[in-house]
Amino acid sequence: MTRNRLNIGNVEVIAVSDGSIEFGTSEFFPGVPDEAWAPYRGLLGDGHTLLFNLGSFVLVSEGKTILVDAGLGESPSGSWTGSSGDLIADLGRNGVRPEDVDMVVLTHLHPDHVGWNVTRSDGQAVPTFPGARYWVPKADWDLFSRRDRMRQFAHIREQVRPLAEMGLMELMDGETALTGEVSSLPAPGHTPGHTCVAISSGREKGIVLGDAIHHPAQIEEPGWSPRPDHDPRLSAETRAALVKRLEAGGSVGLGGHFPSPGFGRVARQRGQSAWQPL
Ligand SMILES: [Zn+2]
Repeated sequence: MTRNRLNIGNVEVIAVSDGSIEFGTSEFFPGVPDEAWAPYRGLLGDGHTLLFNLGSFVLVSEGKTILVDAGLGESPSGSWTGSSGDLIADLGRNGVRPEDVDMVVLTHLHPDHVGWNVTRSDGQAVPTFPGARYWVPKADWDLFSRRDRMRQFAHIREQVRPLAEMGLMELMDGETALTGEVSSLPAPGHTPGHTCVAISSGREKGIVLGDAIHHPAQIEEPGWSPRPDHDPRLSAETRAALVKRLEAGGSVGLGGHFPSPGFGRVARQRGQSAWQPL
């Protein structure tokens, strides 16, 4: 069985999952030729398919329970290949009840990260995590709360706007301390406000990568920007800076879309930075 818990200093980390989705490599990374995947074939399904875990991380820090990202949800809108809707059950299997969660931190406002923010009860949106405040990157809220975007994206209307209406939304701008050990770390490019979560406790460090890095191959190839990146040039810069920071700090990387549980470190291999799963 894969180990889905670890400690970073005094912070307990639990990897949980809402399910998985898949994309063709050329569909998701249109700029990367098929032969460039040769060294990474072992990480692909049938050699050409990206299997993305829909991973969230629970961080327990200074008595607070923080859920980073909220999955795709039970009945996602849009066309997704895969299966989702297991997050609450998986939290339960790991001893975390919805009412235990004090903060939900959303790395960005794409559908596969916000799907369990609210649940419907008699047609009314109620927070899935009743005791939580929901932390949202300000630049993403500024973009996606525009009227044209609101009309375009059902997941914003259904899973994000209700948080603002219920007064449960906190906006993150820059580095925001969530506890004394956990803070937001701006990592723009995938979306304008995309935010990682930095952990620093004792001498140990970790970074929840969100969608700044989707796949372990991008540790070696930080210039590979996927189709959904809002600003592919900026996301490549952000990715390169994160790889450097992971390597220099000996930090644990926590990749939500990496093969479960998504824990690893960046180390030099054949003169290049490479991902080493833990
Ligand atoms: Zn994602």
